[in-house]
Amino acid sequence: GHSTRKINFGAGPAQLPVEVLETIQNEFLDFNGSGSNVMELSHRSSAFAKIIQEAERDIREILTIPDSYAVLFLQGGATAQFSAVALNFLNLKPSKTADYLVTGYWSEKAAKEAEKFGKINWVVPKSSKYQGNCIQTKPKYRLINALNEIGVPAEDTWKLSEEPSYFYYCANETIDGVEMENIPTVVPKDVPIVCDMSSNFLTRPFDVTKYAVIFASAQKNFGASGLVLVILRKDLVENNTNKSIPIILDYKVQIANESMYNTPPTFSIYVANKMFAWTKAQGGLKALNQQSASKSSLVYETIDESNGFYVNSVEKNYRSRVNIPLRIVTNGTTNETLEALFLAEVVKSNMFELKGHRAVGGIRISLYNGITVKETEKLVNFMRTFQAKNNS
Ligand code: PLP
Repeated sequence: GHSTRKINFGAGPAQLPVEVLETIQNEFLDFNGSGSNVMELSHRSSAFAKIIQEAERDIREILTIPDSYAVLFLQGGATAQFSAVALNFLNLKPSKTADYLVTGYWSEKAAKEAEKFGKINWVVPKSSKYQGNCIQTKPKYRLINALNEIGVPAEDTWKLSEEPSYFYYCANETIDGVEMENIPTVVPKDVPIVCDMSSNFLTRPFDVTKYAVIFASAQKNFGASGLVLVILRKDLVENNTNKSIPIILDYKVQIANESMYNTPPTFSIYVANKMFAWTKAQGGLKALNQQSASKSSLVYETIDESNGFYVNSVEKNYRSRVNIPLRIVTNGTTNETLEALFLAEVVKSNMFELKGHRAVGGIRISLYNGITVKETEKLVNFMRTFQAKNNS
């Protein structure tokens, strides 16, 4: 058995399926008869070429990615893409500006990074009550007033630019727990859409062809941190006229070099390859979509049936299926003592990484693909028992 393994409900790096870890363990000293660990192999070797090609083939199959899109395995996490997107695409249109929908912590980071390179239009005013729990322009700990609902404001209130180079949004705000299932319909069809899917990538199907750029860091649903997958329309890169892009952020260079301008994160790509194979073996996005729905329903039912003991302050339409921030509320106020007790007790049941992000406090439950329905059941049983014991 794996009695020493704890259940990791953290926001990432996330828990991986134990069978994937076992495969890696079995290949650790001698990968496929090479006499080496994968991390010891040259990135120019045929053995590694096979790994990266297999990974690309599998993710193209999982997402039905057309040939007109490039698939890149890059470094610097999703954060490097905040800069890369702006550097590569801000000048796509004469306006040299881009529209950013800021719905929380990560889209705010992306918008602020892009502002270093040009004019950025925040389509929702910075003062909006909707901009997440922990937007930096707001006082911290917004969730303490758990009755303050957040979500995404009505599209007809957004201020879009005339002809932006692109429209940017984050499909799932990992810290705020705000998920957008669909591309906003108000964005005109010809505006390239850039999406940070780091935390809900591979948890639901989506149509790649509706996007210009999609990126996702690996440490949530496909493995090891440092690696970021970028899927992008090749034709957009050909129009790029910015000559001063740092070379490893230059999409044109990365496409020409098949993600190997320099030494790529070979071990993380190897783990991604294993995770994509696992994703396929699970039944692909159809099955993982169902699992994600089942797991998040278990948690939200527990919250909704708690009579206000557990509070998640995200509007129902935008509740994330992947990251669920919550507070414990008694007598109308957040009870940080009980939250601390919850976190201390849950560890004794072998479940950990449930502490809320330092920017918002409270509790956060992350349900990435490596978390099973059974493990989620164990957590909600704990939640119900904890409430029964402590809700006086
Ligand atoms: N975007 C989202 C939605 C995230 O959740 C994260 C990380 O947690 C990032 C971006 C940043 O990713 P990285 O730390 O890989 O740069």
